[in-house]
Amino acid sequence: MPTNNPVTHTIDALAKGTVPEDDALLALLACDSLEKNQYLQERADILRRQTFGNHVYIRGLIEFTNYCKNDCYYCGIRKGCKSVTRYRLTPEEILQCCKNGYELGFRTFVLQGGEDPYWNDDRLASLVEAIRAAHPDCAITLSAGERSWESYQKLFDAGADRYLLRHETADKAHYQKLHPQDLSFENRMECLQHLKQIGYQVGCGFMVGSPGQTIEHILKDLRFLVEFQPHMIGIGPFIPAAGTPFEKEYAGSADLTVKLLSIIRLLLPKALLPATTALGTASEDGRLRGICAGANVIMPNLSPASVRKNYRLYDNKIATGAESAEGILQLKKQVERIGYEIVTARGDYPDIK
Ligand code: SAM
Repeated sequence: MPTNNPVTHTIDALAKGTVPEDDALLALLACDSLEKNQYLQERADILRRQTFGNHVYIRGLIEFTNYCKNDCYYCGIRKGCKSVTRYRLTPEEILQCCKNGYELGFRTFVLQGGEDPYWNDDRLASLVEAIRAAHPDCAITLSAGERSWESYQKLFDAGADRYLLRHETADKAHYQKLHPQDLSFENRMECLQHLKQIGYQVGCGFMVGSPGQTIEHILKDLRFLVEFQPHMIGIGPFIPAAGTPFEKEYAGSADLTVKLLSIIRLLLPKALLPATTALGTASEDGRLRGICAGANVIMPNLSPASVRKNYRLYDNKIATGAESAEGILQLKKQVERIGYEIVTARGDYPDIK
């Protein structure tokens, strides 16, 4: 690859740990040369292998409630979606999911749900304590939305290690286009700061191609990631969901998502970066392409099969086959075929004490 080309130069600079200027990053984002995007991916893969080898970590995703008090315009389980069959797993069912997952080799459980007032601090902390007692060698990740400092602290003290809270967009005006007025950009960002200060391994992230998103917004997202230094970053294409204000909008691009995974890998070499379900939904081989591009985490679905169809964040969300926890053998083979290896380690952020 000739190095006198400005985009190639940007990729080389990124690979050496330099954060390029805005113009250079925008040119890289806009570049549609297959050859240069392939080069970007190769550099990202080299960097990932330096820290993580060919390992891909698995997290068992338990979608523990689809009740939500919020009305995010993009989300298929928003409060206003009247066609959704609501469910809430019991603590016993959740513990059974963890037990099943443990037997399948999972050492991280991710509890994700809508913002469900039933799961107040006492109930959620008791659940975390029970999981911690049953599985002392496992990581517990929560993804239960915006809560107070006290709440996050209580859940951390109960035994939660990690928290996923996508920032959704680093641009305040864009945030307001995606959410109703009662949700604030400032509060979301403040929650992320609190989680970090408390000591969680923190994940943020954004949808690619959400309505109104521009390339400049994506640039802001990248700058935010560099500044915030999250331990985990979840990105996936926006996919329209029936019954939401955005149901007729265009879906985000799987190709751009894959490219962003490579750019993010170069910007944050040690991050835990999932090849998300949304990427696998947008493109049949999306998750495998994501891994080749620099992702090193996959989150198969551990929820009881009977409720999976109801956690429908967007249309046609995949939840069976290699996407499901039971499909782990199939997933292992697919990942091996492209030169990587599924491992059962907890997969903490490399520098965490
Ligand atoms: N309630 C928690 C929160 O707000 O962080 C966790 C659950 S929320 C449903 C998880 C993520 O799903 C969101 O952060 C959002 O990025 C993603 N999501 C929701 N609707 C989506 C859609 N239509 N397309 C792609 N991703 C979507």
